[in-house]
Amino acid sequence: MPERLTIQINDHDNVAVAVHDLPAGTKLEGGLVTRDPIPQAHKIALRDIPAGGEIVRYGVVLGYAKADIPAGSWINEHMLDLPESPALTDMPWGTRIKAAEELPAPTRTTWLGYRNKVGPAGTRNLLGIVTTVQCAAGVLKVAVERIKKELLPKYPHVDGVVAVTHPYGCGVAINAPLAYLSIRAVSNLIRHPNFGGEIMVVGLGCEKLTYDRVLPPEDITPENVLTLQDYAGHDAMMQAILDMADRKLQRLDRRRREELPLSELLIGMQCGGSDAFSGITANPSAGYAADMLVRGGATVLFSEVTEVRDGVHMLAARCVSAGVRDKLAAEMKWYDDYLAAGGVDRDANPTPGNKKGGLANIVEKAMGSIAKSGTSPIVEVFSPAEKPAKHGLIFAATPASDIVCGPSQLASGIGLQVFMTGRGTPYGLDVAPVIKVCSRTEMKEHWFDLIDISAGQVATGEKTIADVGQEIFDMILDVASGIRQPYSDQYGFHNDLCIFNPAPIT
Ligand code: CA
Repeated sequence: MPERLTIQINDHDNVAVAVHDLPAGTKLEGGLVTRDPIPQAHKIALRDIPAGGEIVRYGVVLGYAKADIPAGSWINEHMLDLPESPALTDMPWGTRIKAAEELPAPTRTTWLGYRNKVGPAGTRNLLGIVTTVQCAAGVLKVAVERIKKELLPKYPHVDGVVAVTHPYGCGVAINAPLAYLSIRAVSNLIRHPNFGGEIMVVGLGCEKLTYDRVLPPEDITPENVLTLQDYAGHDAMMQAILDMADRKLQRLDRRRREELPLSELLIGMQCGGSDAFSGITANPSAGYAADMLVRGGATVLFSEVTEVRDGVHMLAARCVSAGVRDKLAAEMKWYDDYLAAGGVDRDANPTPGNKKGGLANIVEKAMGSIAKSGTSPIVEVFSPAEKPAKHGLIFAATPASDIVCGPSQLASGIGLQVFMTGRGTPYGLDVAPVIKVCSRTEMKEHWFDLIDISAGQVATGEKTIADVGQEIFDMILDVASGIRQPYSDQYGFHNDLCIFNPAPIT
């Protein structure tokens, strides 16, 4: 079989993507000859495109040519004008609903998790200690190191201790109309499924985010909350934290994994550092795994509003009701207005790395990003940090920033995140494991001991999306069950949590 040089996604496309760096004068499949050197993952014009003409990839108009583009030319991000984003009113819904039998069948139907009294099961057994304010973070960081060293060895059935710190809590307009978004995130993080229902909250004592804003009255007890300003000096403060942690660890140590149905599993999907291969290899492979999970009864979140905005009509077609479609439109509209208030639009999203990776603009990025949602019906749409009410595929409307999407999905209760990358990121979370999937073989060769799964062979034709989808599905269940550890956990590469706060800071 001759080596594949380019990939054309849709028959209507007038561009293809280079599988490798291609020199000028390369004869492509079909006989076309490149006029310019084409960097890997970048676009080649398959036909002459006149000034003002449509540039089509994924069967979708990415933009309009600023000048004539002869066939065989390299099309970079400077050569096209952005189209208008799709209208949000009267989007047809439910026109592309797949029946469960049309989705790929899961090859395993159970996993090993920590059952909770309510909500999804845990993938880890962790003591989570949450701060109400950043002021307490330094103390907690030191205390957690001591807990790990002095207490954790006594409790072999506990996987770890996590300090859930964040930049929210004080110096913020706590009564602003949008403050509920950040407050809900902190409140739901306290009850993350991996913390087994044990509540441990450390506050300073004078912050605006008081305990009653994140806990119901019955949970605000000396057993669960600890206020640093109540203690006389360093030693008393540390001892109080260690004593409380010890009591919680005793209870957590009694938890055991048990065989559970997939309906007890809640995971999230995210991508970051995407390139033009992400939408061909890594994201559709993750989407295939998502379809298997959904058919098996699991719940899968996908997110990142600005990265689906240009494909919103495609998502509306998969919404199961007018109500879900309306919620999707409302979340998009909220974000359009949020960006407009900041003087930008959704094209502020792509990064220099995305562009170097061949993504010309946000339309092209969105078409690739959506692929990670697979093909299942969308049963629910919710706002950042809300918890699911349904099982199945859900759009959780979070920002696309890796470091903001992560805690938002954690607050929704994900026990694991699958993270697709083109350019490479060491991203990880300590509350829940993160599996990283890269879009190119070269990325896996470069970061051989940082990237868990490569989807690069889909581009060269050596593997199918179903092959890599199956690998991702298997790794999700192995990692969720505690059988395997992704690289980020092996090294302890865990990012800070940035709680989404659209309300003013004072
Ligand atoms: Ca992201």
